Amino acid sequence: MLAVSSDAGLSTFQSASKKAPVRSGAYFPKSTPTNAKFEAPCEFRANLRVLLLATFAASATITLVGCGSWGHNPAEVESLRRFVSEEEMMTKFGIRKFLAGLAVLLLFVATTIVVTSSAFASPAAAPLASSLQQTQASASAAKTNTSQAKADVKAYTLPPDLYEKAVKYSRAQYILYFVDFVWGVIVLLLVLAWRLAPKYRDWAERATKVRFLQAVIFTPILLLTIAVLGLPTDMYGQWLSRSYGISVQGWASWAWDWTKGEIVSFVIGIILVWILYAVIRHSPRRWWFYFWLAALPILFFVIFLTPLVIAPLFNKFEPLETKDPALVVALEKVVHRAGMDIPPQRMFWMNESEKGNDLNAYVAGFGASKRVVVWDTTIAKMTVPETMFVFGHEMGHYVLGHVYKGLIFGAILLFILLYFGFRGMLWALSRWSGRWGIRGTDDWASLPVLLLWFAILGFLASPAANTFSRHVEHQADQYGLEVTHGLIPDSSQVAARAFQILGEVDLSDPHPNSFIKLWLYNHPPLAERVNYALTYDPWGQGKQPKFVR
Ligand SMILES: [Zn+2]
Repeated sequence: MLAVSSDAGLSTFQSASKKAPVRSGAYFPKSTPTNAKFEAPCEFRANLRVLLLATFAASATITLVGCGSWGHNPAEVESLRRFVSEEEMMTKFGIRKFLAGLAVLLLFVATTIVVTSSAFASPAAAPLASSLQQTQASASAAKTNTSQAKADVKAYTLPPDLYEKAVKYSRAQYILYFVDFVWGVIVLLLVLAWRLAPKYRDWAERATKVRFLQAVIFTPILLLTIAVLGLPTDMYGQWLSRSYGISVQGWASWAWDWTKGEIVSFVIGIILVWILYAVIRHSPRRWWFYFWLAALPILFFVIFLTPLVIAPLFNKFEPLETKDPALVVALEKVVHRAGMDIPPQRMFWMNESEKGNDLNAYVAGFGASKRVVVWDTTIAKMTVPETMFVFGHEMGHYVLGHVYKGLIFGAILLFILLYFGFRGMLWALSRWSGRWGIRGTDDWASLPVLLLWFAILGFLASPAANTFSRHVEHQADQYGLEVTHGLIPDSSQVAARAFQILGEVDLSDPHPNSFIKLWLYNHPPLAERVNYALTYDPWGQGKQPKFVR
């Protein structure tokens, strides 16, 4: 139900996660396994103040304006009567209590984020020791010389053997993506047909009368069942990645990561499912809205904690300064060129090489957890100038406000998903609740129905989410080109070479068709990115660059 991988967050949103749409990011538009490069989990992960304030204002408005009219619909009362002992739960007081609780939660999260983010906004830490400058100069020179020995990149091209491999690998991934979605839907239909959820609900209700403890029993068993049934496609994906040399992770290590991911999803799932059903019982007709309000701050908090708590479960992180001080000096130049302020303490090195060969860099967290992460594979395979371009791309996401635009987009999408999930669940239960052994919307056993709708709606929302993503990724490329222009020699060629290396290592499809691009690509195809890097030249045409003057 929630994607949990090394780079998990509002998963929708991001990441090279190769998990299935149904099991991983059903709540959100998931990312595609393809071309998830120079990605920015960051986009949905920082600068949440605006959205939090908006949410806070919305809940306050609701408290003031709407309370009196809620919870008195005869159907609601009837539905509630079966489950709720105290009738006052559905009165205005009940709703007010919920909103008051939500307001406290929002205040807590907002305070944490606002207070801690001041650390990030504080003046830059003292510049690095000048001895580092020397190291950087020599290291950079050495690497630059190596890369200049290569021929200039004129387009994204692959030698025949790699070309064939890349096309085959990409096709296998595309097929896997759609098969995985269909299989995920079948899994949920099987869970419903076999009446597994009612069985688990009975276990939970027999064990305890306490609702929270029922959620603690019910949620992990159901999520585990769905995850185990989804293992075939997960394992095929890992096998595919290993057979093409993208992943070098052994099966034992993979299984351990899978287990840790499940445990994390249980913890988050228990909390969300408990709240979801409490809200459904309070307001059978508007729960989708209240749950949306309640889920946002919780998910933001999870994203805040991800780089601190969840990501280190899967990969080793160390300060970039201790691993590659020369690179830190070079990246600080890009930071200063952009007029930004990211102290070296916010830059981290990540050990990807023991699990995979793929390259990446990303920005994650917000407030106190906000950071830039560079994978060791990127440092090993790219020169310092190339890494500076990749870093410039990431910074573009910040400077251009993609973080908060993405958040707004994600919140709107979640809103729509919950509304249609609500309608879809009512529709499905009115037809098959008897066959599936589900008592009603407020029965724990209705969860697979809701997950099924999220899976289908999330899948259908992919083209919209990915079109939005490709747009901001293109802007970040443009920003990266502008911020490195004049800072590193021959910057557009450096950018083109960075893309070329990325494509060779990750076996990126040279020519995805337009349907695949629309549905799966959250970044523009590499051929387009290389072409843009080589042709974008406002300086030569006497025009003003768009973002970095
Ligand atoms: Zn990006």
